[in-house]
Amino acid sequence: MSKIVIAIDGFSSTGKSTVARRLAKELGYIYVDTGAMYRAVTYFALQNGLIANDKVDKQELISQLNDIQITFKFNKTVGIAEVYLNGNNIESDIRTLKVSQHVSHIAEISEVRRKLVEQQQLMGKDKGVVMDGRDIATVVFPDAELKIFMTASAETRATRRYKELLQRGHNLSYDDVLKNVVTRDKIDSTREDSPLIKAVDAIEFDNSTMTIDEQLQEIRKLIEQKNE
Ligand code: C5P
Repeated sequence: MSKIVIAIDGFSSTGKSTVARRLAKELGYIYVDTGAMYRAVTYFALQNGLIANDKVDKQELISQLNDIQITFKFNKTVGIAEVYLNGNNIESDIRTLKVSQHVSHIAEISEVRRKLVEQQQLMGKDKGVVMDGRDIATVVFPDAELKIFMTASAETRATRRYKELLQRGHNLSYDDVLKNVVTRDKIDSTREDSPLIKAVDAIEFDNSTMTIDEQLQEIRKLIEQKNE
């Protein structure tokens, strides 16, 4: 079976990464979490004082983009590829609500997108990749062989994210998480550059009531159909 590109886009906290990671493992493919890359740039901006009073110093960030090196390294113990910024593991630092609250504004900046999209295209150039994000099927890999668009109600998604953050030891309220999910979706869907939209040839999954296994089963069927 020849290798393909699987693009998974969708709203925040739709469980894209869980499904994408499991799928990649099963197929022996590379998994790329592109959200982690936008989060890494946001973390860099926060660490370097480029975000003050909720405003991003865009010009300064653009001028420092060459100083940002994002890499992934597989951690065998936890079984996931963790994200590194300039050689430092920032996997848990990028999952905070603070980063979530700024990331969508960072992701609006075209120069940031250009840099990350170029890196994403390189990572998938030999195919055999499952990539999740917001613009994978529309911009990064418009010719991807399989495109999935995931949705679920905002409440379902906020509940999932809230539980996940609590498990990671974060102290926050459900309402803050819900507000963040809704705000990010709005910014991501209405921005000028590469907004979050369903590609015309993407298959939509409303996974509000689907388990991970059910989603994987559906995706396996779709892959089989592609190979017929
Ligand atoms: O997937 P995750 O929720 O970690 O993504 C964080 C944010 O990064 C999104 O809300 C969005 O603003 C941005 N993003 C993007 N394009 C991608 C992936 C993520 O704009 N391909």
